[in-house]
Amino acid sequence: MRISERFATGSPVFSFEFFPPKSEAGFDALFATIRDLKPLDPDFVSVTWGAGGSTRRKTVELVIEIQRDVGLAAMAHLSCIGSTPGDLAATLDTLAEGGIDNVLALGGDRPRDYAPPAGAFTHANELAEFVRSRWGFCLGGACYPETHPLAESPETDLRHLARKVDAGVEFLITQLFFDNADYFAFVARARAAGIRVPIVPGIMPIVSVAGIRRMTAMSGARIPDELAASLAEVEHDDELTREVGVEWAALQCRELVARGAPGIHFYTLNRSSATRAILQGLRQG
Ligand code: FAD
Repeated sequence: MRISERFATGSPVFSFEFFPPKSEAGFDALFATIRDLKPLDPDFVSVTWGAGGSTRRKTVELVIEIQRDVGLAAMAHLSCIGSTPGDLAATLDTLAEGGIDNVLALGGDRPRDYAPPAGAFTHANELAEFVRSRWGFCLGGACYPETHPLAESPETDLRHLARKVDAGVEFLITQLFFDNADYFAFVARARAAGIRVPIVPGIMPIVSVAGIRRMTAMSGARIPDELAASLAEVEHDDELTREVGVEWAALQCRELVARGAPGIHFYTLNRSSATRAILQGLRQG
């Protein structure tokens, strides 16, 4: 199933993102999460691409296993950083042989002291062109409502995004954000820049204050004052923090879908309960 076909139906497309666990116990827990979320009938799930070699193999194995054995359409994330075109070609061949139809083409984060292997691509548009030259995958890409942290300016970032779409990316998933105004303003700017593909909001329900501080430091996502104040009140109580996080994300999702977002991509952090609560609530209206 090509994800672009789901967007073409016009109904909201819901997806769940997972990451490859480090341990065997983590795999058991992940499959328990996936079984838990399967009855929600997501349009697709995705598995992130890690920095190290063993994690990468796990990404490929996981997407193939989830699609073949669990019966959910699965998309592999794939990034340029640290791979030669030959490495990427081998991965793409394995994914195609495993029946995977969808790839999220990413630049990836450069580790400190990064020395690119010979011929390595630097940016997602180069990876998208490479995939388009030999494989028939449906391609997604990443985008940043609050602008990519390393971009020279919002305008330059948008110009690069347009190049990525011109290179064959058929839908975009946003970095996490907590203020819908940032998403709607970004979509308006992207449309004005000629970007026509679906732009799916990526939503991460907050389940821990320390965790979200780490994530926002990395991604540059802004926490609105109202949410920061609510979190400060419950910071030392995990259950109350989770309730605040779920309530905020649920409100975000309801408004996003009501105002025409093409779906929601949930950053699940390999957990099921927050995503389940939000999506069930959304479907019940
Ligand atoms: P690019 O599109 O290459 O953009 C990166 C930066 O370079 C931007 O500042 C952009 O403006 C600039 N740029 C783009 N093209 C050009 C060009 N041709 N010339 C000059 N400058 C250019 N990371 C992982 O390691 N694994 C994952 O699985 C993963 N999944 C993600 C999923 C989503 C939905 C999102 C939003 C991010 C994900 N990331 C992941 C993080 C992502 O890899 C980083 O944010 C990375 O820094 C940028 O990736 P990109 O694909 O946006 O890169």
